Amino acid sequence: MKKHLFAVLFLLAAALLWWLSLAPRRHQMAVAEGKKPQVVASGYVPYTLAKQIAGDLAQVSMLLPANAEPHSFEPTPGALIAVKNADLFVYVSDRIEPWAKDVLASAGEQTAVVQAAQYAAASDDPHVWMDFDNTQKIARAIAFALIQKDPSNRAAYGANLKAFEKELAELKEAYQKGLVSCRSRQVVHVGHLAFGNLTKNYNLSLSALAGSSHDGENSVRRVAELIEFIKKNQIQTIFTEETLSPRLSAAVAEETGAQVLPLYTVEHVSKDDFDRGVTYGELMRRNLESLQRGLECQA
Ligand SMILES: [Zn+2]
Repeated sequence: MKKHLFAVLFLLAAALLWWLSLAPRRHQMAVAEGKKPQVVASGYVPYTLAKQIAGDLAQVSMLLPANAEPHSFEPTPGALIAVKNADLFVYVSDRIEPWAKDVLASAGEQTAVVQAAQYAAASDDPHVWMDFDNTQKIARAIAFALIQKDPSNRAAYGANLKAFEKELAELKEAYQKGLVSCRSRQVVHVGHLAFGNLTKNYNLSLSALAGSSHDGENSVRRVAELIEFIKKNQIQTIFTEETLSPRLSAAVAEETGAQVLPLYTVEHVSKDDFDRGVTYGELMRRNLESLQRGLECQA
């Protein structure tokens, strides 16, 4: 008799475990019918990619204020609440956003999370979106997460992803062709090390002022070394980061006679570009133009 009871209890427990394994966890569940998924992005890269894939089908917001520095941002209580209420939170990585773990801790039960860097190839440079193959994989991951949250609009997300993948393929080809024959292959960037993946992919050399975060000290010595390098190698053009103080690149330009051209990291944009909803593709086309002009490449 006792044996039977054990057998029945065992079967019941097994059935319960099976049923639990079938029940989707809340963060995997779709949003209610007729409700737009609430997508919260850490900074501009996940923001612009999510917008590109979602169009008007989701409500996409960004934690980092436009023009703010992404690596040393401190999340506000409002940011924690936004992530708590989000259906989807997209960020790059703990290396790019060391503050992401603080907001992740407040994610709601329904919040699905996409960590973009997880889909990128391993690299010393955490600015993984500066490689078009990585960006394609990240866009796919965002599209997949959106479809899980909003399966009735699967076709629209799929079409937007396809259009973006076509744009990425065109960009990749334009970079490959446009940076083949250049008078110089030396990119001197008066900014932080955000272009390691890009320069590596197109066989360009990179010297930057600071490391892969913005808070690396721009020591007087490092600036002096860079000026020395520019003079010694007769560099005609230096590249600057829009959101960095223009005074520094202006000073280096004055000292060396080099012209200054912009490069866009995409991870933060000016207020104007933000308000206009500048896209990843547009910023990367501007970067190609600057590189071709500055390095004197034959188109
Ligand atoms: Zn950066």
